Amino acid sequence: MRRFTVAIDGPAAAGKGTIGRALAARFGFAHLDTGLLYRAVALKMLEAGGPLDAGHAARIARDLVPADIEALGLRRSEVTRESSRIAAIPKVRSALLDFQRSFSRRDGGAVLDGRDIATVIAPDAELKLYVTAEDDVRARRRLKELSNSGIHTTFGKVLADLRERDRRDQNRGLAALRRTDDAILLDTTELSIAQAVEEAAAAVNERFDAVR
Ligand code: C5P
Repeated sequence: MRRFTVAIDGPAAAGKGTIGRALAARFGFAHLDTGLLYRAVALKMLEAGGPLDAGHAARIARDLVPADIEALGLRRSEVTRESSRIAAIPKVRSALLDFQRSFSRRDGGAVLDGRDIATVIAPDAELKLYVTAEDDVRARRRLKELSNSGIHTTFGKVLADLRERDRRDQNRGLAALRRTDDAILLDTTELSIAQAVEEAAAAVNERFDAVR
């Protein structure tokens, strides 16, 4: 199949990754959770210790290898927090740009999820989805995910972290999270995972028909 790019953006814990993975499995697309790139840089920075240094972070970003996005600890809360600080550094974003752009143009189709996929990485994607849900629903889902992986925290803490991260991601000077006019809004507040995936898959099929 020729090129077909699905761009998925939205705030934290809205279900972007789950939907992206499910679409990739169903349609045979490659999938990239771009948040893992920023998390991998954050983890290495934390491991190195020391203050946040833009140049050092950019060098780490440039030298990332595929195994780095499979490292243990990428979902830890301090890594999560640090990743959105690091993501505001222009040099880090530019170091990660080419890899994401070429991934988005793979033969056979690609689905990428993140914050700037429709705006920066793949502005001409065949399908753009903006996935969101109410804050407390997202926080509850994230709390459950964390407790399933053995990390115990409170609802209030998760909600506060999530809001702080969204605020930072939406207000940074570069590649801020926003919904583009041509993105389909998918609000998963009242949807099960299966329902959300069905809606997204229906949008893919519709675009397939339109571009064929
Ligand atoms: O998606 P995830 O929550 O794993 O992303 C972690 C952080 O990485 C986000 O809070 C955001 O600051 C950053 N990010 C980004 N652009 C992307 C994906 C993630 O700035 N495309």
